[in-house]
Amino acid sequence: MRQSTFRCEEQHPYTLEDLGWTEEHERAFSKYTGRYLPGRVACRQKTVWEVLIDSGSVTAGISGALRKLGRFPAVGDFVVLLDQPETGTSRIVDILPQKTRFARGTPGREGADQVIAANIDTVLIVTAAGHDLNARRIERYLAIAHASGARPVIVINKSDLADDPVSLADELTSVSSGIPVIPISAVSGEGVDRLDPYLSPGTTIALIGSSGVGKSTLINRLMGRPVQDTSHTRDYDDKGRHTTTVRQLFILAGGALMIDNPGLREVGIGTASAGIADTFPDILELAEGCRFSDCRHELEPGCAVQAAVAAGTLSAARLENFQRLVQELAFERDKAEIGLVQLEKKRWKAIGKMQRDIGKTKGR
Ligand code: GDP
Ligand code: ZN
Repeated sequence: MRQSTFRCEEQHPYTLEDLGWTEEHERAFSKYTGRYLPGRVACRQKTVWEVLIDSGSVTAGISGALRKLGRFPAVGDFVVLLDQPETGTSRIVDILPQKTRFARGTPGREGADQVIAANIDTVLIVTAAGHDLNARRIERYLAIAHASGARPVIVINKSDLADDPVSLADELTSVSSGIPVIPISAVSGEGVDRLDPYLSPGTTIALIGSSGVGKSTLINRLMGRPVQDTSHTRDYDDKGRHTTTVRQLFILAGGALMIDNPGLREVGIGTASAGIADTFPDILELAEGCRFSDCRHELEPGCAVQAAVAAGTLSAARLENFQRLVQELAFERDKAEIGLVQLEKKRWKAIGKMQRDIGKTKGR
């Protein structure tokens, strides 16, 4: 255990390893000696971060250098804290390399995008039996998950409402391209143990999916108790008033870590270009056979993708969704770069380029 004078705002029984710390982090941290301590960000409130450290938690601001670079730690980040006995505070001075990251929108001018959550190993894409079960929506979430670097798992909740949960899973195998599809009922607990392989101690998971599919219900079941009762943490707002915020990183009953926050729940397609390549490998492969390298797979002659649709080997709805996601991605990128005025003109050009970029990403 590291010796430190860090003021612990709160005690907890967890070691750094319990919080997901690995050899890799240890190596990245090894250059820091002295009054430095590693920790993991559990939540952020404007300019104050709550950082879980070995056996406790501290609240900290960030260094001027990080601020200048626009590098704001996100929930899930492993950070380096510097103790400042002279002011009685601790400060985040570095962010260790992120294994995975969910980002919002496009990178800003300094290349600092808005990271919503970092270092998520596995993302459970939650959908529910009934009207939410929609292959196109799953494709969208898959693109987002793949782009983050986290490993996706598709969970079909509310299986208790379905006559035949197994056939529910079959419905999604056409879009899942080898990704596990697991029917569960968060309410009855049926099938929830099939998530165990993805919940090993020290693994960080997150849930994404539409509102109402049962994410909170599943979190509470995995926690073994209602989260909201236990995850409140003391904090101070800009004016130094005492406020209460909800901790966004917590440890589940089985030892896995869960990140849950509103930004993640509402995560958009953003910079998910690499994710689209992983989600639609079939279309990108077909596109290599198109006559034009910038083919949009619409009305171009010699389009191998349209040919596959005509031949019935590719679903028209799947292609349409691919095009919609690519377009959205181009839109997100352009919005940030050129503003809305010139957008319409540049938009179509960008889509062709985007598809080429995606092809390159895929080739790596
Ligand atoms: P969230 O918006 O994704 O967090 O969804 P909630 O967890 O708030 O659940 C939305 C509604 O679905 C609530 O009324 C839950 O009781 C219900 N629900 C959640 N899981 C299940 C389930 O497995 N089966 C059934 N029948 N209802 C569920
Ligand atoms: Zn084409």
